[in-house]
Amino acid sequence: MGSIQLKSVEKWFGDVQVIKGVDLSIGDGEFVIFVGPSGCGKSTLLRMIAGLEETSRGEIVIDGRDATAEPPAKRGLAMVFQSYALYPHMSVAENMGFSLKTAGAPKEEQEAKVAEAARVLRLEPYLDRRPKDLSGGQRQRVAIGRSIVRDPTAFLFDEPLSNLDAALRVEMRYEIAKLHEHLDSTMIYVTHDQVEAMTLADRIVVLDFGTIAQVGTPKELYERPGNLFVAEFIGSPK
Ligand code: ADP
Ligand code: MG
Repeated sequence: MGSIQLKSVEKWFGDVQVIKGVDLSIGDGEFVIFVGPSGCGKSTLLRMIAGLEETSRGEIVIDGRDATAEPPAKRGLAMVFQSYALYPHMSVAENMGFSLKTAGAPKEEQEAKVAEAARVLRLEPYLDRRPKDLSGGQRQRVAIGRSIVRDPTAFLFDEPLSNLDAALRVEMRYEIAKLHEHLDSTMIYVTHDQVEAMTLADRIVVLDFGTIAQVGTPKELYERPGNLFVAEFIGSPK
């Protein structure tokens, strides 16, 4: 569970083509990072995989089935939104269980899934708190916890740490690495941050105006950058 294939995937907004025929095969449990200049199509591609954006041409295959026309809820993927999307009037436990509740899951199942997510994310002491009474890192963990309870086959992250301060980014990078190790789920992660890409990725996909400029392990990109963007991205720590 958790393999994703993109086959000649295209996206047109009106008569403007922003994804220009992308082929990519992501293995079960792989941590793949999308990088590339602003406006190159990272978010659009991620949203197409999630089903939040329609695919104009080509095919998206999830766990061997054609998911191109499936609505987001059918795909079994979790798009992790930033912590500011938490419900302020709900407790941590309620925030994490909310999607199960609306899906009509039995109460025992809701509680068991929330307890497990809280354990994985070390949020057990905070289950009764409101988001405003949490630290930034704890809030971000709750945002991730809301996805974990659905047992997604893959997690999709769009620059989840970009609004956090430097210290918190380091903390959360570590959390996400641990989460991947623990859950062993496929993760696709968009970032601007070179350190995040180099430390988290099994493979880095470099996008350039809607096409894949290069795919490789961090080491391969470091040793043989295929273009100037890659060379600069890999070579200039921020
Ligand atoms: P990135 O995440 O790499 O910065 P995006 O995927 O957000 O890039 O955007 C890729 C291109 O598609 C940009 O030129 C952007 O302006 C355009 N775009 C994104 N969403 C829409 C939309 N809903 N309608 C029209 N153009 C869009
Ligand atoms: Mg984006």
